Amino acid sequence: MQVDVVGVIGAGQMGRGIAQVAAQAGCEVLLLDRDLDVAKGGKARIDKGLARSVQKGRMTEEERAAIVARVRPVTDYAELATADFVVEAATENIDLKSKIFAAADEAMKPAGILASNTSSISLTKLAAATKRPEQVVGMHFMNPVPRMKLVEIVRALQTSDETFTATRTLGDRMGKTLVTTKDMPGFIVNRLLIPFLNEGCFALQEGLGTVEDIDVAIKLGLNHPMGPFELSDLIGLDTVLYIGEVLHREFGDDKYRPPAILRNYVAAGWLGRKSGRGFYMYEGGK
Ligand code: NAD
Repeated sequence: MQVDVVGVIGAGQMGRGIAQVAAQAGCEVLLLDRDLDVAKGGKARIDKGLARSVQKGRMTEEERAAIVARVRPVTDYAELATADFVVEAATENIDLKSKIFAAADEAMKPAGILASNTSSISLTKLAAATKRPEQVVGMHFMNPVPRMKLVEIVRALQTSDETFTATRTLGDRMGKTLVTTKDMPGFIVNRLLIPFLNEGCFALQEGLGTVEDIDVAIKLGLNHPMGPFELSDLIGLDTVLYIGEVLHREFGDDKYRPPAILRNYVAAGWLGRKSGRGFYMYEGGK
């Protein structure tokens, strides 16, 4: 299947990144958010990031302009009628994603493939709610999308071989390294990551060390680029909590229970970098 037009639903940190790598792969991109200003803001952020790449000599000004010109901010699902492949990257919430899947399914052409960048939600359930279950697949990018090489391809029970192959081909075109996982909560990366991030919070709650002590210990002791709190702030604490709740509920195992401190921070609106405050304080993204 030839993919010329890619739709991306959600112009947040992941949606913007997916739109960028799709445009860099030569696709026309429809970047859809519920608010046109958010979609336009997503395009502006892509432009800003690429301008830095030009400054650093990683691409030419002409390449930047051509990539940005391929991204069109939209807000109406009817625009997805021309898309060959849609990646949903909206907020991690099953009710919201089900509604978005229904709207995209309605708007897309019959042959179109509908993918989700969900971190934990069952693709099999999302697929079952559409009229194209065999053309539903998981395409789980890492954050930040342009820099992180990995994409997990998640096969729902219903995903056809044709859909799987087309998804791999698109991932290859984007220059990503692909792994395949079964449709189980958290897939591979978050199955291992979330217990690690949670344990950082439990250790903090017990007073084992400060936020900084725990982060430095993990970075230097395990040779990780980020400690659990820096990484949670980057991902978004609401997203970390939601994934933890899915793992806890779906496996029915208390080892995945989300820590109270994480729930409290999310209740306070301290979501990490994107809200300016999480385990650390941020100004201008730093
Ligand atoms: P985010 O909060 O930065 O962005 C979410 C976007 O979804 C916002 O722009 C919001 O306006 C938009 N949105 C909400 N409702 C919508 C609707 N009805 N229609 C269209 N757009 C809508 O979140 P994010 O970090 O980009 O995460 C998005 C998805 O990617 C989630 O499923 C998350 O689990 C997954 N993911 C996140 C990370 C990460 O590190 N943050 C990594 C991999 C996967």
